[in-house]
Amino acid sequence: MRRRLLRPALLCATLWTAAVCQAQVTVLENATLIDGTGRPPVANSTVVITNGRITYAGPKAQAKVPGGAARVNVAGKFIVPGVINLHGHLGATKGLVQDNKNYTRENTFHQLKTYANYGVTSVVSMGSDQPLILDIRREQRATGRPKEARVFTAFRGFTGPGGYPTKAPGMKGVPYEVSTPAQVEKALDELASRHVDLVKVWVDDHLGKEQKIPIPLVKVIISGAKKRGLNTAAHIFYYDDAKALAEGGLYGLAHSVRDKEVDAAFIASMKKSGTWQAAATFTRELSMFVYAQPPQWLDDPFFTPSVSPETRATLKSAAYAKNVAANPENMLYKGFLKTAQKNLKKLADAGVPYGFGTDTGPPARIQGFFEHLEMQLMAEAGLTPQQIITSWSKSAAQWLGASKDLGTAEAGHWADLVVTAKNPLTDINNMRTIEQVYIGGNRVR
Ligand SMILES: [Zn+2]
Repeated sequence: MRRRLLRPALLCATLWTAAVCQAQVTVLENATLIDGTGRPPVANSTVVITNGRITYAGPKAQAKVPGGAARVNVAGKFIVPGVINLHGHLGATKGLVQDNKNYTRENTFHQLKTYANYGVTSVVSMGSDQPLILDIRREQRATGRPKEARVFTAFRGFTGPGGYPTKAPGMKGVPYEVSTPAQVEKALDELASRHVDLVKVWVDDHLGKEQKIPIPLVKVIISGAKKRGLNTAAHIFYYDDAKALAEGGLYGLAHSVRDKEVDAAFIASMKKSGTWQAAATFTRELSMFVYAQPPQWLDDPFFTPSVSPETRATLKSAAYAKNVAANPENMLYKGFLKTAQKNLKKLADAGVPYGFGTDTGPPARIQGFFEHLEMQLMAEAGLTPQQIITSWSKSAAQWLGASKDLGTAEAGHWADLVVTAKNPLTDINNMRTIEQVYIGGNRVR
């Protein structure tokens, strides 16, 4: 009840007279606006934010700014939609340790604030959650104006009995381990009753080391989710699995195909079912081998706020590097990354829709900073800055079914915005010149 009374619209309607009822208006003026639609940028723009939502975004000449607005001069700077990360994980990792004992309100908020600090204004938590996440999501949606990244969640994902990733540290008991359609239906009922934003399934044998859930059972998950009005995203690794699931009506691939290059038959399957390459997660591959030689960016002042000094010291240590380098399997991921990059470029060129996602959150997959590395790797794959920006704004919101509220910097949407000093359209790495971040019109950086 108390939270409701804080909402300005309700105050206006019930308590105050129209004369004293003032909307909260913030105006960002004089920047170049890159709105996420893919249209050319608007130089000398005005963005009017009323009670957290954009009510105008376009040329300054046509803007009507109400009296009493708080005006922010961002001349010479660039306004870009906040990043919607379609593949993250929350709560369980602290430092470099993944354990559900870490899944506290404090740790989860710390992570959501870290994302926000790097311009990631929404994150989809992909199947590794505890009930706490549903409380946080409910609290955020009560106002629509959180002070940290917005949460979307698959809650608990599916795998087979003892399947991937239940042997990863801290992951036992997190996903549903199913072997029959009846078990699938029961779990889907629970997910539907908790109003999850999507359904997640892991389809992987971890390079032949673990049990993979059978494809026919995954198809039961996909169709059962659909019956309940839910879309399914799949962790896949292999071409054959991804193609079979696209043919089974899968909504989104939560990783790139990494064992081989996709081809015309694959693209046709994706298009026929409307399957998205929801997240390419290049930084997931990178994280497997990059620490074998401590990367230079561990000393980059843009990186350092993303982790604790202790975590940074560990990642920089010779012992950590030696441990990563000692596992020859880790080095295979250099090739998997290259294949993934070729595949995203092929899919993009063929007109298959794609979003943006990193798989950050597990140990050494650094929330906030890795989203910027992902942009860099997408550019190296051959995507233009405009394509990359659209992937995390307009496209990501569309895939989530959140286009009414989020995505582009257009009137009607929540003002989830990033202000940069340099132009990300000339070099996507200029996203690292972040100066301000807004979520629901509130400045959070
Ligand atoms: Zn993941």
